[in-house]
Amino acid sequence: MIAKQDYYDILGVDRNATAEELKANYRKLALKYHPDRNPGSKEAEENFKEAAEAYEVLRDPQKRNIYDHYGHEGLQGTGFSGFRGFEDIFSSFTDIFDDFFSFGTGGRSRTAARRGADLRYDMTISFEDAAFGVETEIDIEKLHTCSTCEGTGCEPGTHPENCAQCAGTGQISRSQGFFSIRTTCPNCRGGGRTITSPCPGCHGTGQVEKSNKVTLKIPAGVDTGSRLRLTGEGESGPRGGPPGDLYVYVSVKPHDFFKRSDDHVVCQVPISFVQAALGADIDVPTLTGEKKLHIPKGTQAGEIFRFKGEGILSLRSYGKGDQIIQILVKTPTGLTKKQEAILKEFAELDAAKLSTKIKNIFKQ
Ligand SMILES: [Zn+2]
Ligand SMILES: [Zn+2]
Repeated sequence: MIAKQDYYDILGVDRNATAEELKANYRKLALKYHPDRNPGSKEAEENFKEAAEAYEVLRDPQKRNIYDHYGHEGLQGTGFSGFRGFEDIFSSFTDIFDDFFSFGTGGRSRTAARRGADLRYDMTISFEDAAFGVETEIDIEKLHTCSTCEGTGCEPGTHPENCAQCAGTGQISRSQGFFSIRTTCPNCRGGGRTITSPCPGCHGTGQVEKSNKVTLKIPAGVDTGSRLRLTGEGESGPRGGPPGDLYVYVSVKPHDFFKRSDDHVVCQVPISFVQAALGADIDVPTLTGEKKLHIPKGTQAGEIFRFKGEGILSLRSYGKGDQIIQILVKTPTGLTKKQEAILKEFAELDAAKLSTKIKNIFKQ
């Protein structure tokens, strides 16, 4: 049998160490060798268990007394055999692990109030509202802190009482020899308190569902998929805990004329083939009204023009995008006899011009 190391040496304390010194040193070791910080390390695991065992014995005056007089063998006579695994360790020292690790085995901190739930609200806005921003009011159904009991869940004038089953500790322990296992009290679910006269307003939950109006300021430049966060506008936390947040998910209705490409507004403008050939000044709708666009002579179908700065305010950087105008050339239909005759004449002239051009290409 391997000789066991001295418990005081393991914790690095004197034989007359106080309970505080023991606890402080054990905390340091538990933190250092915690399995979450040393994944897969057998050595850390051994050290972690060793420290837990040493602390389990020395924090208990009775066991410490036996150990001081009779050493490890003395404890063997009492049925104490250390820990079987991490679960055992965590459930035995919930007071310690709760302080510095968020997890544990049911040993939830008894005083910390839980945060309220976050809420999601989906809203659809117009293309223009997305471009310029909009302020609007929305109705949110959510849990509020009960105003009758101010969230305590108790009838006004009464108070929660210490749970009779666990005497307010939130935990119950079962003893096995010198070894005790603590579990969360099933009566108060670890809260340590029970409500004997529940508040009539909220039936003891401390919260009531109510609809309330929230003013939303949607900034210019949002797009489908943009998410706004309103801190503290979520549900109130149970038992006076802090409220959650409200997340507003935006989607933008498609526009009949405009499309969006990042911060640019894209549109297609049809012109006649005569306008394309001879040039023209046309009116183009923009987000702020109509604007003149000069179409130069010989503009091709699909050609792109830009109105600088007529796009959408950028959410990510300064400045605005552009309006991008793509030209569509309409083919004329329903021609009169005269128009047809003129076009035919035009075609003959154009064919002659085109054939010399092609000849020139083949000459090269
Ligand atoms: Zn209430
Ligand atoms: Zn209880």
